[in-house]
Amino acid sequence: MQTPEVRAGLLSRRRFFQWTSSLAATVGLAPAMSSARALAEPTLPEGEDYYDKLGVTKIINAAGTYTMFTAACMPPSVLAAVQKAALHPVRLHDLQQKSGEYIAKKLQCEGAIVTSGASGAISLATAACMQHANNISPLAMPQAIDGMKNQVIVQKAHRYGYDHAMFLCGARVTEVVTMDDYKRACDAGNAIMTNFFNAAEEEDGLPGTAQIGREEWLRVAHDHGIPCHIDAAADMPPISNLWKYTGMGFDLVAFSGGKGMRGPQNAGLLLGKKELIDLANQNNNPGDGVGRGMKVAKEQVVGMVAAVDWVLSHTEESMQGDYQKRVDVIVKQVKDIPSVKTETVVPKIANHVPHLLIRFDPAATGTTTKEIVAALRAQTPSIELNPNTGRKPNQGIPSDANTLVVGVWMLQPGEDEIVGKHIRAALTKKA
Ligand SMILES: *Cc1c(COP(=O)(O)O)cnc(C)c1O
Repeated sequence: MQTPEVRAGLLSRRRFFQWTSSLAATVGLAPAMSSARALAEPTLPEGEDYYDKLGVTKIINAAGTYTMFTAACMPPSVLAAVQKAALHPVRLHDLQQKSGEYIAKKLQCEGAIVTSGASGAISLATAACMQHANNISPLAMPQAIDGMKNQVIVQKAHRYGYDHAMFLCGARVTEVVTMDDYKRACDAGNAIMTNFFNAAEEEDGLPGTAQIGREEWLRVAHDHGIPCHIDAAADMPPISNLWKYTGMGFDLVAFSGGKGMRGPQNAGLLLGKKELIDLANQNNNPGDGVGRGMKVAKEQVVGMVAAVDWVLSHTEESMQGDYQKRVDVIVKQVKDIPSVKTETVVPKIANHVPHLLIRFDPAATGTTTKEIVAALRAQTPSIELNPNTGRKPNQGIPSDANTLVVGVWMLQPGEDEIVGKHIRAALTKKA
C-alpha cells in the first residue's frame, strides 16, 4: 500500500510529464517525448497573454534594436532552446563553463562568457582588468581600491552613457584627445585598461571625432602592457565582427545579445583572452562580486548560445538580403505618393543594416512628420518608427525634419506590409 508521500510523489511525477509533454508539443519536440506523452493527462491550457491581461500595448518595432522598445524578438530556434532549457535545473557553473567554451570555439577566441548584456560585459571586463592590474579579490571592488590602479583610458569622443558600467567597479576615466595625451596617460602607470567605443567613428569628419584609430590604439596600450576593451555592442552584422576585434588583438570585446544577434534581450557576450575571461568569471554571478546583480538565468545562457548558432547559420548576404526585401515591400507602398523620395541607408558600424528613409514635402502631402508619427502610434498594434525620424543627421542616418526613418530589421514576418500600408495611409491622410 502506498503512503500519502508516495502518492503525492506519483502525482507530481505525472504532473511533470503532463507539463513537459505539453511544452514539448508547443516547441515541436513531441516525437522525442512520446513515452512521456503516453503517461500524460490532458494538456495544460496555452500560456495566457500577459500583455493583454496587464493592458500593455503591443508594438510593431519599425525602430530598431532600442532597449526602450525591448529590442529583438528571438527567432523560433532560440525561443525553442529557451523553453527547453526551462524544463531542467542544471549546475550553473557547469553551464557557464561549457557555454563559454562552446561560444569561444565558434567565435574563434580564447574565452567567452554569456553576460547580462553588453553593459554587464563591460562591468565584468572592468572588474577583470582591475584584478589583473592590482592582484586583488573580486570582493575588493569598489570599496577597497583606494590608492590602487583604477584608471580606464578613453578618447574624449568615446565617452558615453555606458561609462557607468566601469564606474561601478570603482574605476575612473582618464580622457585623452591627442596621441601625446594617450602616451602620457599610458606612462602614468595607473591605468587598468582602455575602452574603445567601436561605433564612435559613425560621426567621422564631424567636430570632436576621435583622433586615434584601432591599430594605433592597441599598439600603444600593449607597449605599456595595458589590456584593451572594445565595445562593439550594436555592431553585428557583419557576422565577421564577432571574431574581427579579438583577431585584431583587443583583449576583451563586448557584444549585446538582444540586438542584431536576436538572443534574449537580457544577454550579451564578453569575448577575449583566456586569462582575463577567467578573471571576469570570478566576478560573475553567483559570486558576491560586482556581477552578482547581473544574473544570467539558465534560459538566457542557453538562449544566447542558440542565438550564436542562429547567427552562424546565416551568410552575410542572406541576412542583409532579407532586410532589403522588407525595405522593398515598404518602398512599393509609398513610392507613387506625390513628393515622396525613398533612399536606403546602411550605417557604417552600429546598426549596419538597410534603413529606409522616406523623404516628403509636407506642402504636397498636407501632413507633418509629427502627425504621421502620431497616426502610426495610434494603430493597433501601435507602430514605432526609428527615433531619428524628423531629426537632423545622427548615427550615420542622414535624416531631416521631413524624413521618416524605418528600421526594418526587428520587424516580425508580415509586419513590413502592415507598416507600409499605414505609412501610405498617413502620408495620404487616410489614417
Ligand atoms: C546597446 C549598447 C550597450 C548596452 O547593451 P545591453 O546589451 O543592452 O547591455 C552598450 N554599448 C553600446 C555601444 C550599445 O549600443
